[in-house]
Amino acid sequence: MTGAPPPAWPSPWHDAVVERVAVLTPRIVSVFLRSPLAPGLAGQHLVVRLTASDGYAAQRSYSIASAPGAMPIELIVEKLEDGEVSPFFHEVVAAGDHLEVRGPLGGHFVWRPADGGPLLLVGGGSGVAPLMAMVRDWHASGVAIPLLLVVSARTWGDLAFRDELIALQARAPLLRFVAVTTRDTVHRPGDLVRRLDSAALQRLLTDWGHVPAHVFVCGANRFVEAVSTGLLDAGVPAGRIRTERYGGAG
Ligand SMILES: Cc1cc2nc3c(=O)[nH]c(=O)nc-3n(C[C@H](O)[C@H](O)[C@H](O)COP(=O)(O)OP(=O)(O)OC[C@H]3O[C@@H](n4cnc5c(N)ncnc54)[C@H](O)[C@@H]3O)c2cc1C
Repeated sequence: MTGAPPPAWPSPWHDAVVERVAVLTPRIVSVFLRSPLAPGLAGQHLVVRLTASDGYAAQRSYSIASAPGAMPIELIVEKLEDGEVSPFFHEVVAAGDHLEVRGPLGGHFVWRPADGGPLLLVGGGSGVAPLMAMVRDWHASGVAIPLLLVVSARTWGDLAFRDELIALQARAPLLRFVAVTTRDTVHRPGDLVRRLDSAALQRLLTDWGHVPAHVFVCGANRFVEAVSTGLLDAGVPAGRIRTERYGGAG
């Protein structure tokens, strides 16, 4: 599968209808949208534009967490208490609402099953979103590629898609899902309670037993910075590491 190429800029705005909003973790909701968009590639994002009744409009980027071409499209939105747009998805947006969306966008932070592996995905908080699209695409395609997914969050309850990933790992022997929490205790053998640094990443890679051909790291600025540096220290060549930064420091 090669998927559709990213649309030429500027891509047009499309109407999107909110099918439902579901609580994923205490700080993250899933927003399911129906919109006539091209399927795109795993790792891409949408720009979402919200317009208030007085005409004031704000737009933000959100990674697509659903597999390419899946309908409804799933976005996940983490609530930043002092944020302008993200609280709106938690407190105001409801089924039947209309939004405007543009995309899928992004040509660098993408993975296709034909790209091969082994594949290492590392996400912090809502940064798991584009990695989830890759996991779902990987699983649907049936490719025999080892995949290590490392997801970091504050607590076990803050791990988005946790139960889905544990269930998928039980059915897919080539998937290894490691949960990393910074303010909790270990809930499963192999999970970690610590911040991800060179030593932790080196240990995860050694335990995994594969050399990653493609690495995708996504999350807040500081998380991406720390993980990228750690991976370089652990001997992963820079040319294999692709990053997506959501902003902020956390
Ligand atoms: C390509 C791309 C994809 C993105 N995908 C997602 C996604 O799937 N889910 C999601 O929740 N967000 C995602 N974001 C971040 C999103 O676009 C918004 O920045 C976020 O929702 C905050 O918007 P806001 O209006 O609430 O906050 P604002 O009022 O715009 O900003 C508040 C402050 O929070 C900072 N900030 C932004 N994101 C984070 C973060 N993750 N952690 C800590 N601080 C942050 C901003 O830099 C700013 O300083 C993505 C960003 C990019 C560039």
